[in-house]
Amino acid sequence: MTTVALMGNPNTGKTTIFNQITDTYAYVGNWTGVTVEKKMGNIKHSEIVVTDLPGIYSLNPITKDESVAINYLLTDDADIILNVTNAGQLKRNLLLSIELLEFGRPTVIALNMIDDLKRSGIYYDINTLSERLGCHIETTNARNKDGVKELRDELLNMPADELPDGSALELDYPFMVKQAIRQASEKLVSDYDMKPAFARWIAIQYINKNKIIRKYAVKNDLKPLLEQQGYYDAQNFENKIFNTRLSFIDTTLTAATKNLKSTKNVEMTSKIDKIITHPLLGLPIFILIFLFMFKLSFDWIGTPISDQLDALLSGPISTYADKFLISVGAMPFLRSLIVDGVIAGVGGVLTFIPQIFTLFACISILEDSGYMARAALVTDRIMQTIGLNGKAFIPLIIGFGCNVTGIMAARTIEQPKERLITTLISPFMSCSARLPIYSLFVAAFFPKNQALIVLSIYFLGIAIALLMAKFYQVIFKVKDSTVFIVELPKYHIPRLDIIWRGTWDKSKGFVKKAGTIIFAGTVLIWLMSNFGPAGFVTDIDNSFSALLGKVLLPVFAPIGITSWEAISALFTGIMAKEVISSSMMVLFHTSSQTALIAAFGQMFTPVAAYSMLVFVLLYVPCFATIGTIKSETGSTKWAVYSVVSSLVIAYAMSFIIFQVGSLLF
Ligand code: GDP
Ligand code: MG
Repeated sequence: MTTVALMGNPNTGKTTIFNQITDTYAYVGNWTGVTVEKKMGNIKHSEIVVTDLPGIYSLNPITKDESVAINYLLTDDADIILNVTNAGQLKRNLLLSIELLEFGRPTVIALNMIDDLKRSGIYYDINTLSERLGCHIETTNARNKDGVKELRDELLNMPADELPDGSALELDYPFMVKQAIRQASEKLVSDYDMKPAFARWIAIQYINKNKIIRKYAVKNDLKPLLEQQGYYDAQNFENKIFNTRLSFIDTTLTAATKNLKSTKNVEMTSKIDKIITHPLLGLPIFILIFLFMFKLSFDWIGTPISDQLDALLSGPISTYADKFLISVGAMPFLRSLIVDGVIAGVGGVLTFIPQIFTLFACISILEDSGYMARAALVTDRIMQTIGLNGKAFIPLIIGFGCNVTGIMAARTIEQPKERLITTLISPFMSCSARLPIYSLFVAAFFPKNQALIVLSIYFLGIAIALLMAKFYQVIFKVKDSTVFIVELPKYHIPRLDIIWRGTWDKSKGFVKKAGTIIFAGTVLIWLMSNFGPAGFVTDIDNSFSALLGKVLLPVFAPIGITSWEAISALFTGIMAKEVISSSMMVLFHTSSQTALIAAFGQMFTPVAAYSMLVFVLLYVPCFATIGTIKSETGSTKWAVYSVVSSLVIAYAMSFIIFQVGSLLF
């Protein structure tokens, strides 16, 4: 039986290729000792078994997950190696390829994502590459299945024997290193009966301080290596090996690169990047762009349209609906449920669609134009200082749309601890569901500085997330963080259809939820505020909502929340954050924002209002998010932890803001 080991950097398309070349019935299980999914499947119509290994940047593992790959090479006798690379990032990808080629098994390198490379105007001469690397090369676009059939045929036709001696890749390492490799490997061949290529590879990996190989050497008592360890390390051979590899990659790529079109676009991109990713200017520019985005969404486009909708809803629509219900003889009970409950609550939340659409259209434009990748780069510097990397930035940005999708996006982070940290901090990203309540409050209390106040809430969320990340890094004892190198796409004018799709993808959840959970939440709060221990109540002060809110008043007073309506609304908001605003509308019997704003004026000072917003930002994730945390971490413990910790943090922050703010203002 022939076996193929599928290896490569994370996110290069290994799994996509795996799914396309194998039968769909892949065996999935866990590797012994680690909880990384193990996926094996037969190449269609053949006996060849492919194993999809976890993504790695080098054979020297940092984490347990990463050690799966090298252990596989050591123990499972892969006949053929299929190395999937991102063609646009060959410089980094080839570092791993070299280690694999030194292993001396028949190897195919797939230059995947060739579509991205083509778009950047670069083209590699495949013959040159294949000659210099000494292996087969196929270009693929796994997403479109281009070249995948050729790749499969290549694998089917590969002789699964060892390569003939001396035909594994041999780099021109500095003399001393070469000498050391030769001496050790000759002894390994003669005294330990190893195959020459394998012995060379073991020697190189050993010299290169590969933890697993060092253990392997101890276990098998490989004296020629063990005796020299002090010498290797003292001479810093590891650095010399790394430098030789880098310069080999440079010369190989230079020789193989053909610039199809050194287009104006490329020049323009690098000019823009000089400014936008500038070490000092990068961050202020990032903040300005976001400020502009919020200005657009709140002050210039979103709110004015939203106001129109609101006037329509609380005026003609409510009146008409009420008249209609009276004319068909609906009971007062039902009329109240529909007009004060559903129209006020669900309809009221829907009037915030303009802000949400504008904001997500802006984010989609930033994504499609190529700016978001730069934002990840700019923020990577900050992320580095707290020990995370730019990779975590992307799930966090997605979290602005919805925390659930943000947490799901954290799946791309390969290190379990970094993934867990990103999952835990994701709920602090201010999702779209929180916008309606922000909008209401800033309109009521900060009419002149709406965008700035909302922006400050967003940044506060980011700041808390980063602080917590740092805290978890220390607690979880995360030492090394993965390398993060983003590929920067060329700038281009965003395409309308892509922006539309991006905007819709991010905001559709909001629209769809209106019919389901927001509706349910609205009905719940309507029931709670129309019924009390004594049954149907006419005075809302005797309702369950009021009772619940009043019981909790002493708890909320220190953070400036002194109305039971707000407390009840926060309570229902756990179902979904939009429900906070719809609940307010139900509790005040109005969907009119102007009426609400007037009512709020009685209940909050501006400082208390800000404290309330901070509390809304940070307190308990919504049901869907809690569920996602549970399923992604595979543990109820983390879900419960997330609820408790965010409550504590929310309370503490609001407390500080309200207490200090009240002294100052
Ligand atoms: P893995 O981490 O190496 O297993 O990578 P995946 O197979 O999960 O792919 C990562 C992402 O790259 C997915 O979103 C794929 O849809 C995408 N992808 C895979 N192959 C290609 C390709 O050839 N071109 C482009 N543009 N994207 C690809
Ligand atoms: Mg994968």
